[in-house]
Parts: sequence; C-alpha cells; structure tokens
Amino acid sequence: MSELLKNKVAIVTGGTRGIGYAIVRKYVQEGATVVLCGSREETAQKALAKLKEEFPQAQVDAIWPALSDRKSVAEAFNSVKEKYGRIDILANNAGISHNNSFFDYKDEDFDKILDINIRAVYACSRVAAEIMKEQGGGVIINTSSIVSYNGQAAGCGYPASKFAVNGLTKSLARELGRYGIRVNAVAPGVTRTDMLAALPDEQIKPIIAHIPLQRLAEPSDIANAFTFLASDMASYISGAILPVAGAVVI
Ligand code: NAD
Repeated sequence: MSELLKNKVAIVTGGTRGIGYAIVRKYVQEGATVVLCGSREETAQKALAKLKEEFPQAQVDAIWPALSDRKSVAEAFNSVKEKYGRIDILANNAGISHNNSFFDYKDEDFDKILDINIRAVYACSRVAAEIMKEQGGGVIINTSSIVSYNGQAAGCGYPASKFAVNGLTKSLARELGRYGIRVNAVAPGVTRTDMLAALPDEQIKPIIAHIPLQRLAEPSDIANAFTFLASDMASYISGAILPVAGAVVI
C-alpha cells in the first residue's frame, strides 16, 4: 500500500463492480478507509467480502442507501461519519445508460436515468457537503462521460444526464470552495465494464478505430484519475471536468 490517501475516509457509490470497484480497490491501495455503496444489501455485501479477501488488512465497509433519496442517504452517510469520524472523499460513480433511439425512448427510462445519474449525485453531494463543511473540507468527484461534450446519436437521456453532471460539478465547485470543498468530475471514454457488455463486437471495433491511443479504457485507468483528484496532489483543482478517454474526439 502507498500513502496518497492515508487517513482519508472515502465513500464510493456504485462501488460493487466496474469503474466503481476499481476506484474502491485503488483507494484502499492508497491507504484510505473505504465505504462502498451498492444498490442492494446482497450485492454490497458480496463486493465487500471480495474486497476483504483481497485486502485483509484494509478498513472497508458497505452501505446500500437509496441514492436519490436524501433521507436514506443522510442516514447511511451519518452512520459512516459516526463510525469513522469524518467523510473526506465522495466518489459519485453509480450510473446507468440506455441506447434506445429517441422515438423508442420510454418516459420511465428517461426518469430512471436522470434519477440515478444526476438526482443521486445531487442528493449524495448535498449530504456529504454538509458533513464536509462542518469538518472544514473534503472532495467530491462526479462521473461524467466523454458524451457530455457533443452528445450521442442515440440514447439521449444518458448524455443529457452527464451534461447535467458537468453543470452541477462546476456550480458546486464555485459554491462550496469557500468551505474547503473541491468538486471535480472525471469524463471517461468507452471503458471495459458491464455497461459495455451490452454492445456487440462489431460496434466496439469502430469505436477503437477512432481512439488515438488505440484501445478502450480499463476501469483502472479511470480509477487512477479518481485517485489523483481525491488526493492532496490536486489541492488547487476544483471545477474541472477531466477527460480520461485516450484523446478521442466524439
Ligand atoms: P457498471 O454497470 O459496471 O456499474 C454501475 C454501478 O452503478 C454498479 O455498481 C451499480 O450497482 C450501480 N448502480 C446502478 N444503478 C444504481 C441504482 N439505482 N442505485 C445504486 N447503485 C446503482 O457501469 P460502469 O461502466 O462501471 O459505470 C460507472 C460510471 O461510469 C457510470 O456513472 C457511467 O455512466 C460512467 N461511465 C461509464 C463508461 C463506460 O464506458 N463504461 C463511460 C463513461 C462513463
């Protein structure tokens, strides 16, 4: 283990798999106490057990609040604060995507995507920021996407939610800076996770052909950016949307 996040307490939403689990692993490796959030108790406990097996010495825990419900989040985050004394880092990573065309888009899918991709980011940030303000500082890192620059040709709800993440990130950075709270976002390019498993191979090859670094992102590539932004190495960085996308322009 190295020391980049030593003595820090971090919460990672959607920490059970994919990019979120990679962030959890990296934060643990850098010495943080890490609390992962799952959507259900069962998946959260399963991910926690796997983590404990890999890092038996680490201080790790799991919670499963309803992320867009501020009351549920407050209960869970306050219990973390009581148990570990503080919350230094919130990584808002949980998210979903749909690729439906506009005319096939279901209203309930649009609501669902906004609920987890942006309303949950608002609710979790609000609760964490209250704790961070009281303790004199903290870091919030949101998960945007490379599609938050120019949208995408199908699945309009997803880029809409990620443009909103950028707006919330920049606004909170300006509003919360005076309390010592930094707020940034990471904008991943196409990353090899379950979210991608839905795409057939013939759709992945042309994606790679357009990436100057000639490969997809691995979850660890994204987790490294989350670690840098969470650490004191990024002490004067706030309001940034950091693309981690192999120089792709879409
Ligand atoms: P994933 O599907 O592998 O994991 C998503 C995580 O979010 C899971 O842990 C899941 O439990 C959690 N989650 C989903 N719905 C939830 C809900 N209602 N309540 C609580 N938790 C919920 O996806 P991933 O690829 O690891 O994506 C993580 C983040 O990265 C998302 O915000 C996504 O938009 C973003 N992102 C992914 C890619 C990519 O190519 N994979 C690219 C850009 C941005």
